Amino acid sequence: RTAVKKQYKVAVLAGDGIGPEVMAEAEKVLQVVADKFQFGLTLTPALVGGAAIDASGEPLPAATLALCQQSDAILFGSVGGPKWTGLAPDKQPERGSLLPLRKTFDLFCNLRPGQIYPAFAELSPLHPRVSSQGMDVLCVRELTGGIYFGEKGRTDTDAFDTQRYSVAEIERIARVAFDAASKRSNKVTSIDKANVLQTSILWRETVERVAKDYPGVTLEHMYIDNAAMQLIRSPQQFDVLLCDNLFGDILSDEIAAIAGSLGLLPSASLNGNGFGLYEPAGGSAPDIAGKGIANPIAQILSAALMLRYSFGEEDAARAIEQAVQQCLAQHIVTRDINPNSTYGTAAVGAAIVATLRQ
Ligand code: ATP
Ligand code: MG
Repeated sequence: RTAVKKQYKVAVLAGDGIGPEVMAEAEKVLQVVADKFQFGLTLTPALVGGAAIDASGEPLPAATLALCQQSDAILFGSVGGPKWTGLAPDKQPERGSLLPLRKTFDLFCNLRPGQIYPAFAELSPLHPRVSSQGMDVLCVRELTGGIYFGEKGRTDTDAFDTQRYSVAEIERIARVAFDAASKRSNKVTSIDKANVLQTSILWRETVERVAKDYPGVTLEHMYIDNAAMQLIRSPQQFDVLLCDNLFGDILSDEIAAIAGSLGLLPSASLNGNGFGLYEPAGGSAPDIAGKGIANPIAQILSAALMLRYSFGEEDAARAIEQAVQQCLAQHIVTRDINPNSTYGTAAVGAAIVATLRQ
């Protein structure tokens, strides 16, 4: 008797700009690893963002949301562009789609890996002194609480924002960080400002308690100001960075800048049930859309994160990551990585597919 194959359903929301071009490559890569690692995969496309506005007037049509609800994960491209600026906030491609998706699925956790690849260390603005050490970090950011969502107010002469965190909110994000670290280099650096903030004191206590369940993972605490500095001085000391919403917002952008290559950076937003939305860290890049030169790697690596964090297909995720590394090492890259390159989006995708087929 043959074992029943695992089956995963993915809502594929390619969106606008370079979204559809890079998504096509990610879909090919996913089909190849599904074959190779023997799981079933249904990839169902739906409209989102500007493309959905053009078709239906809504950035997140009911049919798209329904598809997401029937799926095991969302693979998201990118949304927005000059054509759709000036609309009301909840009708804008980005705010009108990503925020409701985050809310509907309670995506409280944002993962942003950042790497300096040895073959392209010169992409980093910290080249050569710091980039030669390398960097391989994962920023785990709390996404639905903290100061961005606390009570706010203002009068003509003053204003306030409130930061609140509950033990439950801190605990669930801390567990994601420790789980991730135990599949990486077993180190968590928890970021706070416990010398001045009550929320940070609670954060520290709670993270300490969660750490007891992960004896194999080393925990350290670092103040946000020191962490911002340490990241540019010696990023190789970090493995997983555990951050609240505000500090994670800042550090994840700092990490992206240090990596120096938007076209290579994936991201994931997860809830507590293994459901996630996976998308490139960069945007719809309207300046290069339709030219066949966009880098598909961020989208392909986002698909790898989906296999790891939503489906538990670690081997397939690693295979994709290794195929990407191999392409980079062979200098099969788009022009954002090497201005002299003649490889386009499809050629890079094809090279990764060919490597996976070997
Ligand atoms: P904003 O970030 O304000 O939304 P934007 O959407 O234009 O603006 P991004 O889409 O993030 O910004 O792109 C910023 C720059 O990085 C652009 O010049 C874009 O061409 C480039 N870029 C982003 N993603 C890629 C990619 N996958 N391949 C090649 N270049 C990219
Ligand atoms: Mg953008």
